Formats: sequence, structure tokens, C-alpha cells
Amino acid sequence: MGKVSVGLRGWRFNEAEIFTDDEQFKPLDEMPKDPKQRLLRLLTLVDKPCDACYLIHGEADKQQCNPAAFVYGEPMDEVLLCADHEPDFVYWYQNAGGSDLRGEEGFADAFHQWFADSNRAPDGFGGTEVVETDPEALPDLPDASDIRDRLEENYEPHTIDLRQYIDDSDAEQTDQPTEEELAELDLETEYPSREE
Ligand SMILES: [Zn+2]
Repeated sequence: MGKVSVGLRGWRFNEAEIFTDDEQFKPLDEMPKDPKQRLLRLLTLVDKPCDACYLIHGEADKQQCNPAAFVYGEPMDEVLLCADHEPDFVYWYQNAGGSDLRGEEGFADAFHQWFADSNRAPDGFGGTEVVETDPEALPDLPDASDIRDRLEENYEPHTIDLRQYIDDSDAEQTDQPTEEELAELDLETEYPSREE
């Protein structure tokens, strides 16, 4: 088994960690902690607007924003992007200092600041769309509500309260992660690369 994106492109999961052999989601308590928290965090993100659109339109015109299609960064410090704005993020990451902040606290804020200062990828900069047009590279993206249903389905023996897990991860944010935890997270996160 390989790596897959779920719900949004960007974050990648080790299939063996989150799926059973017949490609169903594992019960949550059988998943390792990091992918479980990442997956639960993802469920709260899939319906959100693109950060860059939001910076342009603001709360008042939120309905003008494209829904997020990509997620980069770490849980609780992530950047959400639509297909139109993903190239801006990739440009920032590759050419404007973003990669220096990989795994660092404030990664998302730094991109938001760069974008808010009217910085953009140059015309014709393609982001990761080169990869996206390769059918072999297209991950299977189940629908968000489908993910929820299937996770809840597989968690039948106990009643599941996703909010409880999500609150847990929110609460953890107030504790500073250790160097070790950061290093671990870093290893598990895929960052965009045009070479892939
Ligand atoms: Zn956008």
C-alpha cells in the first residue's frame, strides 16, 4: 500500500495506517495517533474556504470564496487553498522563503502575510498542476460526508463523538510541542514539489 490524500489534496496518509485491507477506514482507536489526529482535523477543514480567497473577500463576502481543495502545513497550522491559489502557495514555498519555515510554528501565518502583502506567483507559474494532470498521481478523494459516515460506521461498538477528539487536539495546541514531536510531524508531511 502507498500514500493517499483524503478529502483534500496535500496531506498524505500511509494507507496501511488508516485503511483496512478491504479499503474501509479503520476504527479510530486502531489508527496511530498522528494520522488519526490529522484525519480528524481534516474533517473540520474540508468544508472551509480557501485561505487566499478569504484574505481577498473577507468574512462579509465569504460566499465568493472557492472551497479549499488543498491543505499544506501541520495540523492547527495549515494553509487551505483552492486550485486558483495553490500556485501562489507553491511559489511562496519554493521561491519566497516558505520552505525555510517547513515544520516551524507560524508557517501558515507567514504565507498569509506574504499573500496579504499582495505577493503572487508570476503569470504562468503552474503550481503542482503538472502532477495533477498525471492520472497515476491522482489520489482517490472520497467525499467529506462519506468519510464521516464511514468512520462512524466503523466505530459502531462505541458511540463516537468526533467533537471530543477535535477538542482534544485543540486543547493540545496550547501546549508547546516538543522538538521531538515537531520532528516526527515533519517527517510525515508532504510538501509540494514539482519534481514528484
Ligand atoms: Zn482561493
